[in-house]
Amino acid sequence: MLNIDLHSHSRVSDGVLSPTELVGRAQANGVKVLALTDHDEVGGVTEAKKAAAKHGIRLVSGVEISITWAGTSIHIVGLNVDENDPVLIENLRRNRSGRIERAQRMGERLAELGVAGAYEGALKYVTNPSLISRKHFARFLVESGVCSNIPNAFDRFLGDGAPAYIRHQWATLTESMEWILNSGGTAIVAHPGRYPLKDVALYAFLDEFKQLGGTGIEAVTGSHSPDQYLEFARLAKRYGLLVSAGSDFHAPGESPVDVGCLPDFPCPVEPVWKDWK
Ligand code: AMP
Ligand code: MN
Ligand code: MN
Ligand code: MN
Repeated sequence: MLNIDLHSHSRVSDGVLSPTELVGRAQANGVKVLALTDHDEVGGVTEAKKAAAKHGIRLVSGVEISITWAGTSIHIVGLNVDENDPVLIENLRRNRSGRIERAQRMGERLAELGVAGAYEGALKYVTNPSLISRKHFARFLVESGVCSNIPNAFDRFLGDGAPAYIRHQWATLTESMEWILNSGGTAIVAHPGRYPLKDVALYAFLDEFKQLGGTGIEAVTGSHSPDQYLEFARLAKRYGLLVSAGSDFHAPGESPVDVGCLPDFPCPVEPVWKDWK
């Protein structure tokens, strides 16, 4: 099977490799088609495309948009968006703009919980000044010895509903879909197994996503267990959605799945790339 990885991060959001280094690593791992999907940013795509052209890799211009739906934080991946679209760029900038204040509040909450200096500590890991994420806090919590590893930092402090979780109003689902579709892209639900949405709420979300022009959902991702690969591949079929696969790679030694190191789909599926030229 062709090695395709449609979800990855660089230093332009909260990954640790430059776009060029990420593409080099993808090439070394045998990737033929790679999407760079930084959080609320397309600023790394041009560099990644240049590197990809040298390696004979097809680089898909992507983005991972943070939204709030029914009070829940969800990620929508846009694939084949126009990274030079000024409207998209401006909307993503606005979506990022609340991150610093949110991070300061996370720092205050962590101080109340007995962890001092977390905001300043997280800032040391930040590589894009307008993109501080929970991952930067997680790296600080691990490297300062407060937490044993990244999942532990999310379980104890940072995960949705955990003690240092700060609710945030991101873009709406409708807005994210407009941004992606209006810049020529297709919309994919990122790691659907990771949200605190079950049954009725998940189905309501997928109905709305589909009605707004959504194309697919991720089934095989570094954020799912093998059981979930199958569960979401089947759910996609039921909803008439296509299936995507992406490592969600952020950093060597940190991410559960390296770029381009995903298993095959667990059953026959219609992949999101089925009509790509
Ligand atoms: P933010 O955009 O600040 O909400 O942070 C999102 C980042 O946190 C992404 O890089 C996710 O991969 C990461 N993340 C969210 N939940 C978890 C989790 N339970 N375990 C590990 N990483 C997570
Ligand atoms: Mn991230
Ligand atoms: Mn995500
Ligand atoms: Mn991601």
